[in-house]
Amino acid sequence: MSRLLGKNVLVTGASSGIGEAIAIRFAEEGANVAINYHSGQDRAEAVKAKALDAAKGAGVTAKCFTVAADVSDEQQVKSMFATSVEKLGSLDILINNSGIQKPAASDLVEMTDWDKVIGVNLRGAFLCAREAIRHFLSRKAKGSIVFNSSVHEIIPKPLYIAYSISKGGMENMTKTLALEYADRGIRVNAIGPGAIVTPINMAWINDPKAKSEVESHIPMGRAGTSEEIAGVFAFMASDEASYITGQTLFACGGLTLYPEFRTAWSSGE
Ligand code: NAD
Repeated sequence: MSRLLGKNVLVTGASSGIGEAIAIRFAEEGANVAINYHSGQDRAEAVKAKALDAAKGAGVTAKCFTVAADVSDEQQVKSMFATSVEKLGSLDILINNSGIQKPAASDLVEMTDWDKVIGVNLRGAFLCAREAIRHFLSRKAKGSIVFNSSVHEIIPKPLYIAYSISKGGMENMTKTLALEYADRGIRVNAIGPGAIVTPINMAWINDPKAKSEVESHIPMGRAGTSEEIAGVFAFMASDEASYITGQTLFACGGLTLYPEFRTAWSSGE
C-alpha cells in the first residue's frame, strides 16, 4: 500500500516502540519522515536505516532524517519544526507519539515526576500540535495530526495518575483542536492503543508470568504489536480517513469493552 506517497511527516519519539514502527510503516507507504528523538541518536539513526530499507523494499522513494528535540521545550519544538520544514519543504502530517509514565501511589507522587509526565504527554503534545497548525495555516494546505493516546484516555489508571490524566486531557485536546480547525482543512484525531509490546512496558514484556497476567485481561487474549498500531496510524493520517476528525480510534484487542462483563456475573444467572 502506498497511501502516504509523497507526504511529509514528523513523528515524535520515533527512536523506539510505536513511534519507531510508525516511522518505518510511513516510509514503507511512501512518506518522507522526520524521525524525532529525545536521547540516543544511534537508535534514531538505526530507525532511519530501517525506514529507508522498508521504502526500498516497497519500491517507493522516501527521504528520512533524524531530528533531536525535547517536545516539552518550546524552543526545541520550534527548532525541530524549522529543521523539518527546511529539509522537506513542508509538512503534511504530525504524529504526536512521545509519551512517558512514572508509577507511584497517588498519595506519594513527587511533583517533579508529575511535571515531567504532564510536560511531555500534554504540554509537549500541544506544543507540537500548535506548531503543526501554524505551519498548515501558513501554507493554506490540508493537514493531519494524529495523537498517540491510550485506552487510559477513558479507563482510569491507578498508580499512574499523571499519565491517566494526560491521556484524558488528550481526548479533549483532540476534539477541541478538531472543532477549531475543521473548516480550514486540518483533521485532528487520536489512536488509543491497549497493551502493546514496547519499551514502556519493560515491567512485563520479558516476564512470562507477568505478561500472561496482563494478557488475561485482554478479550483477544494477547498484547498488541507496534506494527499493528502503526497500521492504524497510517490509515488515520492518510486521505483514507479524509472525513474523520475529532475521534479516538481504540486499537486495544477489546480492552475498552469492559472485559469483566465477559460473563453474566451482574445478572444473577
Ligand atoms: P517508548 O518508551 O518506546 O516510546 C516513548 C517515546 O517517547 C520514546 O521514543 C522516547 O524517547 C520519547 N520521549 C520521551 N520523552 C520525550 C521528550 N521529552 N521529547 C521527545 N520524545 C520523548 O514506548 P511506546 O509504548 O512506544 O510509547 C509511545 C506512545 O504510545 C506513548 O505516548 C504512550 O503513552 C503510547 N501508548 C503506549 C502503549 C503501550 O502499551 N506501549 C499503550 C497506549 C499508549
